[in-house]
Amino acid sequence: MTSIVTLGSHCALQVLKGAKDEGFTTLLVCEKKREKLYRRFSFIDELILVDSFKEILEQRCISKLEEKKSVIIPHGTLISQMEPSEIESIKIPIFGNKWILRWESDRKMKEKLMLESRLDIPKSVSNPKEINGLVIAKRNGAAGGKGYFLATSEKDYKRKRDMLIDQGLINGDNDLYLQEYAFGVSAYLQYFHSPVSDNLEFFGVDRRYESDIDGLGRIPAPQQTDINKIPSFNVVGNSPLVLRESLLDEVYSMGERFVEAAKRLVPPGMNGPFCLEGVYDENSKFTTFEFSARIVAGTNLYIDGSPYSGFLYDEPMSMGRRIAREIKIAKKENQLSRIIT
Ligand code: AMP
Repeated sequence: MTSIVTLGSHCALQVLKGAKDEGFTTLLVCEKKREKLYRRFSFIDELILVDSFKEILEQRCISKLEEKKSVIIPHGTLISQMEPSEIESIKIPIFGNKWILRWESDRKMKEKLMLESRLDIPKSVSNPKEINGLVIAKRNGAAGGKGYFLATSEKDYKRKRDMLIDQGLINGDNDLYLQEYAFGVSAYLQYFHSPVSDNLEFFGVDRRYESDIDGLGRIPAPQQTDINKIPSFNVVGNSPLVLRESLLDEVYSMGERFVEAAKRLVPPGMNGPFCLEGVYDENSKFTTFEFSARIVAGTNLYIDGSPYSGFLYDEPMSMGRRIAREIKIAKKENQLSRIIT
């Protein structure tokens, strides 16, 4: 009997609820400090208590997960708390393609995959001297937007960079990646690609609610300059969005190009959930500034299905449940090896 396991954070509730709905045994690797929270949910069959998530690399956890024939569902917390090489060394089967997670974490590889997918991406700025216009400085790794800042000149950049150094958030220029700021309204496009049916499903779209930047609109512009703090882009939650129907065709095309490019560059390709993240400009042109090569937390909005999954399924279908459904189908058709790495 296969068990579905994930780390206690990010979208763990959605993933394990979906797994339970599809008839799987559910396991949660849970930090002791969060035990009380996760014990509230009856669809979690068992908790493996740890002091740190890195313990899943240790024999005690591995034996337990092997005994339960576990499949790990990776999410943002796995990526932010472990090095790509550590994730790749995990011996327990990981749903999707664990090799592509390195491409998500590494800025250069990320850019390459997006370019191969023929997505419009903002230009990167390799040297602060070249800043001439609005740029966003992003910290390397999955910082979740914390400590990101905007700058319009080298001088402005240096002042803000030094403030982050003082706060201990970065060591220097090498910890920052500069990219042209993309104007427009943000949209985070959620997809699921099934290698079993070789089909791409558009599952939903959300917007992120980021502090401090999304709170700035409440403060009149003259007072904004009085705030003695660099406004950050730290995700606090997500809100739903539906797109103009005329945009959907291009949404599918972008997703398909991404899947094709991933198949070429990172075998076995982009299997399972992923997200293209960017902005629509006034001409409805989408600029992609990021991708996530695994389930994103924005899917937590759609536990009972989304305005898009409702067109594909006659039952409530969350992304978590869709993952479990894929494992169920693959198992039945003896194709498990195609959907795990
Ligand atoms: P990321 O870590 O790339 O997902 O970025 C975190 C947040 O920073 C995003 O959700 C956006 O609000 C913002 N952001 C990142 N890159 C850009 C960009 N090139 N232009 C505009 N906003 C951006």
